[in-house]
Amino acid sequence: MSLQGKVALVTGGSRGIGRAIVLALARAGAAVAINYHRQEGAAAEVLQEVESRGGRGLLCQADVTLPEACEKMIGAVLANFGRIDILINNAGIRRDNLLALLKIEDWETVVDTNLKGVFNCCKAVLRPFLKQKSGGRIINISSVAGITGNSGQTNYAAAKAGVIAFTKSLAKEMGKRGITVNAVAPGMIETDMTTDLPPKLKETVLPQIALQRFGKPEEVAEAVLFLARGAHYITGAVIVVDGGLSL
Ligand code: NAP
Repeated sequence: MSLQGKVALVTGGSRGIGRAIVLALARAGAAVAINYHRQEGAAAEVLQEVESRGGRGLLCQADVTLPEACEKMIGAVLANFGRIDILINNAGIRRDNLLALLKIEDWETVVDTNLKGVFNCCKAVLRPFLKQKSGGRIINISSVAGITGNSGQTNYAAAKAGVIAFTKSLAKEMGKRGITVNAVAPGMIETDMTTDLPPKLKETVLPQIALQRFGKPEEVAEAVLFLARGAHYITGAVIVVDGGLSL
């Protein structure tokens, strides 16, 4: 199915997995709003890539931890494209440490970005979805850490587990309106988020991955695209994209 005529918003679309999702949705025909937080230059490059392939895009600076900023961002998408059909909650950060050493600020920033950010954007998109009366797709990027837990990631894993429970609950609320809400849970993916991991940790993780390699952002985007353009009878699901890490 083509996404021609559809409008998507990807949070954290400037880099990594978000960038790959923007490009996949644009290639499928959607107009894509590219949200970023601080890296305007990276986001502008993604927009340029979309436009150079004949697609339509829009840059949207917003900090997803702020409800008003998310409302404003959805408003800008509506003002520019006239509608919104697909929301991809991808923006996320990690601030790892063992709980004994974890600062309260690092708990709060991670939970605010990775969980409250999803709440803020979903809240802001519901009104236009309901007004349009044509369903809608919400896809939340969780993590295998939210399923299996991870030492040194109490903050991150708790937020990502919260995203899964949030996804299932909202799927139950919105089913009767034809709005599907699903999650994608990546494993270890080659992005800025994983480049600075200690080499020793990478060496330990690698043998635990059935496919014996880290994933590529495009491989996560494939799952997102599947949920965004087909998957009519799938809601409240979590698609794990981890090369077998969580087995
Ligand atoms: P990344 O390369 O570090 O990119 C993070 C993105 O999130 C950037 O676009 C960044 O914007 C944006 N962002 C951060 N804080 C934000 C905020 N407050 N408001 C708006 N945008 C914000 O990360 P990634 O690896 O692609 O990860 C994308 C998602 O996948 C995250 O939710 C992450 O938790 C999840 N995930 C990643 C992996 C992995 O192995 N990489 C595994 C499992 C799950 P700026 O560019 O402006 O800073």
